[in-house]
Amino acid sequence: MKNNNWETVLDYTCLLGEGPVWDAANSTILWVDILYGHIHAFNTQRRAYHMFQTGQMIGAIALKKNGLLIAALKSGFYEIDMERREIKLLKQVEADLPDNRFNDGKCDPAGRFWAGTMSVKGTAGAGKLYTLENDRQVSIKIDNVSCSNGMAWNKDHNRLYYIDTPTRQVVAYDYNLADGRINNGKTIITIPEEEGYPDGMTIDEEGMLWIALWNGWKVARYDPESGKQVMHFSLPAAKISSCAFGGENLSDLYITSAKTDLSENELLDQPLAGSLFVIKNCGYKGAPSFLVT
Ligand code: CA
Repeated sequence: MKNNNWETVLDYTCLLGEGPVWDAANSTILWVDILYGHIHAFNTQRRAYHMFQTGQMIGAIALKKNGLLIAALKSGFYEIDMERREIKLLKQVEADLPDNRFNDGKCDPAGRFWAGTMSVKGTAGAGKLYTLENDRQVSIKIDNVSCSNGMAWNKDHNRLYYIDTPTRQVVAYDYNLADGRINNGKTIITIPEEEGYPDGMTIDEEGMLWIALWNGWKVARYDPESGKQVMHFSLPAAKISSCAFGGENLSDLYITSAKTDLSENELLDQPLAGSLFVIKNCGYKGAPSFLVT
């Protein structure tokens, strides 16, 4: 389906679509369905689609240099080979916390995989933001997180932008590329209630932040210096969960959505909820995805 701006990539809806990642080497957009544990992959040149069932709830994926994926599943960090349909545990995380699961995650400019957790029961402050380091050690970056979500690094690689959704805020941290340390967090954007909750996030080549607005029916572009929303794209689903630039020139904006927790009436009003949307040639360009080393 198509309108002036957006179109759906597939005639398929996720329960909780999330975590889009553009694989430039394979012209493929990947995304996950958290609650079903699915990884979806669509090759935009061959128009070939396939899906991998991880067998657990999945928070996020990132691309590895060797063509494999790193995934944050409910029980920890895994390596996945989509072609061979193989999955290997790298490191258990929060094995003592059965009510927690991983949520959003992303690879940083130094090849570390960052991913955060949350309580499936909604317990405030029960999650943490972790990194899987290049030597496979796991570090805690932020404690007392409620719903760990969007992340982005600036072009100079000295700032991390981070969203803990219930705070309605984007916090900017000083970020040390060499050792991955973050400190000096400052709130730079606050999303008003009528705009929804900030969820997944990406950054464009001009350094502006693109934030998916859960219950906000849109993805919006923010200036991290002024904290102001400078433009947005409306979408035909309330629960917009994340976004990533893709396509040959990184000028297509891919946007995930969800149909979880919608009432029967809301579902009738939002038949495309859960779709992966794309705004082709959206007028802005992203930066390439980083690869886990
Ligand atoms: Ca999310």
